[in-house]
Amino acid sequence: MYPAIISNYIAPKTVAEALDALGRNAGATVFAGGQSVMQAIKARLHQAECIVDLKQVKELRGVSVAGGAVAIGPMTRYVELIDETKLRPAYQAINDAATTVADRQVRNRGTIGGSLCWNYLAADMPPVVLALDAELDLQASGGKRRTVRITSFFKGALETDRADNELLTRITLAAPPRHAGSAYKKWSTQTDGLPIVGMAAYVETDGKGTCTKARLAVGGVLPVTRRAGKAEALLVGKRANDGAGIAAALQAAAEEIDPQGDRWVEGDYRKVLIHDLGRQVVATAFERAS
Ligand SMILES: Cc1cc2nc3c(=O)[nH]c(=O)nc-3n(C[C@H](O)[C@H](O)[C@H](O)COP(=O)(O)OP(=O)(O)OC[C@H]3O[C@@H](n4cnc5c(N)ncnc54)[C@H](O)[C@@H]3O)c2cc1C
Repeated sequence: MYPAIISNYIAPKTVAEALDALGRNAGATVFAGGQSVMQAIKARLHQAECIVDLKQVKELRGVSVAGGAVAIGPMTRYVELIDETKLRPAYQAINDAATTVADRQVRNRGTIGGSLCWNYLAADMPPVVLALDAELDLQASGGKRRTVRITSFFKGALETDRADNELLTRITLAAPPRHAGSAYKKWSTQTDGLPIVGMAAYVETDGKGTCTKARLAVGGVLPVTRRAGKAEALLVGKRANDGAGIAAALQAAAEEIDPQGDRWVEGDYRKVLIHDLGRQVVATAFERAS
């Protein structure tokens, strides 16, 4: 389907110009890689009278490290994140997810910030960034700035805490301790497809292999991508070779998340996936932490 008429297209070169454009055009649609929002526009699910395209805003791209903390520009594309070594090993789950998003065309255009702001139920980056406990910087057209923890950012399917006149300007991951690792894996009904379940794990150890902190996030489940807090608590004190202990934690995750069924798979099958993918990502996260 052809989109409804887009009467105004603005391509700012700086964040200041982009915010100015948002201020002057109430309800303008921010455009990153266009891989989600353009589909909605073409299907006439979303009408965009004015588009503010961030593609030329260089300051919103790239990954940098300062004092051990990692800052990711929201306009960093999946293709750029696949081999980004600054994320390893603590935040390597981002590499994993970027590798498995869709196909090459989508990875060449789609951005991490676009994925978080769209917050599609079955997307790869939301569970990863949730497990990594990121902080998001937002700037409003009036100049107001705020930082939001990712746990408060996702509100519901396709809903976030971002206001219409705000831009996501940075994703920050705290300086990790020496022994930290993460991993992501998904299962989908087709190669390069959206996840039926996507599991992200982050693990810190005491340097001798015992888990001191764990975060687990599950995507592809209603009503929103979320953490499995009970399972995280159960993982603390476990070692990578404690199969029974890790299985008990994942059982708790499946029960806590209690996924629904849909036209693709039954809820119980999603529980099996939480268990199976969970076992794999926890093992990889432990390995990377060591
Ligand atoms: C064929 C196909 C297959 C796909 N398969 C997968 C898959 O397997 N896994 C997966 O995770 N995703 C998949 N996707 C979605 C893809 O990952 C999108 O790229 C992503 O969801 C959105 O990123 P984008 O940069 O394209 O954002 P856009 O579509 O440009 O924007 C998405 C939303 O975010 C807002 N936005 C973007 N950047 C900012 C910002 N800096 N500040 C404020 N608001 C902003 C926009 O206004 C819009 O509401 C697929 C898409 C297609 C077309």
